[in-house]
Amino acid sequence: MDKNHCNTAIHCTVEQCANHCCSAEYCSLDSIHVGTHEASPSVDQCTDCMSFKRK
Ligand code: SF4
Repeated sequence: MDKNHCNTAIHCTVEQCANHCCSAEYCSLDSIHVGTHEASPSVDQCTDCMSFKRK
């Protein structure tokens, strides 16, 4: 995984993620998986980046 690669289509500020671009507020992955932990999501806080990996 190249952490210097920034996918400008995926803006992300989660610097604690191992997939975060080290030089800017972007994800380094080509694509991500987004899901939810709620039965009936209603606001953005109900959604999760399922591609998150702890550093
Ligand atoms: S995997 Fe998800 S949380 Fe991690 S940097 Fe990419 S978009 Fe952000």
